[in-house]
Amino acid sequence: MNMTLTSPQRAENIDGKAAARRLLAEVAAECRAFVDQGHHPTLAVVLVGDDPASQVYVRNKLRTAEEVGIRSLEYRFPANLSESELLATLDKLNLDPLVNGILVQLPLPRHINEQAILRAIDPLKDVDGFHPENVGGLVHGQAVLTPCTPAGCLRLLQDYCGDLSGKHAVVVGRSNIVGKPMAALLLKAHCSVTTLHSRSQDAAALAAQADILIAAVGQPEMIDASWIKPGAVVIDVGINRVTRANGSSRLVGDVDAASVSTVAAALTPVPGGVGPMTIACLMQNTLQATRLQTASAVLSHCG
Ligand code: NDP
Repeated sequence: MNMTLTSPQRAENIDGKAAARRLLAEVAAECRAFVDQGHHPTLAVVLVGDDPASQVYVRNKLRTAEEVGIRSLEYRFPANLSESELLATLDKLNLDPLVNGILVQLPLPRHINEQAILRAIDPLKDVDGFHPENVGGLVHGQAVLTPCTPAGCLRLLQDYCGDLSGKHAVVVGRSNIVGKPMAALLLKAHCSVTTLHSRSQDAAALAAQADILIAAVGQPEMIDASWIKPGAVVIDVGINRVTRANGSSRLVGDVDAASVSTVAAALTPVPGGVGPMTIACLMQNTLQATRLQTASAVLSHCG
């Protein structure tokens, strides 16, 4: 008797660490080329206060910059720094021709207006891609500096799927740093895009129509198999620390990986998926900023 044993499908693992290593190797090669031409690409990282998660993020960014040969400058300030003092620092960095990228680590202390700070960064040095001029350029489909996390998600998708043209992509979340720029990038890549948020009705049913699902909600393991079309590709942006019954903690995404991997074709892990790509894209943006500034200097010289 012939008997076929069926076991639940396990989604393919989309390895963000490996993809980030490949991207960083490209960045390192381009960085060496700049250094050979006499300019050392430089990233200034500004940290205000002592938020423990921000300290870890900044440490990782500085370490990666060093690994790829990007020079980094670190500006650490106490939490009581005034907004005008921070603006004065940004003015100096904007004017310094040796600084190519400026990153202000968020969140900022509550007394500082985050929008005012993001607007004060020269758009050509805005390696986070949060300046309104870059956000507008992204929506217009221009080659501007683009937020790192969605740029990393797009690269993972293009590596895995190839051409995204005509795919239905659902983005769950509409924040300025992930959801909205993600939707704009997918539209630019010729996807049909649906954005869901906390007021969406029948969100799971809408999500279950997606060929590509991006989860960026900040709710631990909220998205289970009922949100997923069989064979969909799922990118989990979420990073949530949850406490186990025994008091220890672990990181989980916004996707319930055990449930979703029985339905999806492929899924990014947490950790080791989108996170490493975010940092790699920051390095890539620093080089793109260096290129944009070189082009703009040539133009102003000629003009
Ligand atoms: P925000 O809190 O700024 O935004 C969350 C979004 O999810 C909002 O648009 C919100 O809707 C929506 N949302 C919340 N609950 C629901 C729900 N039940 N159904 C549908 N939509 C919902 O988060 P971020 O965008 O900053 O981050 C999202 C996740 O990504 C977090 O886990 C964060 O830690 C992680 N992250 C990871 C990065 C990485 O490098 N891997 C980088 C940045 C973020 P509404 O607008 O209506 O409130």
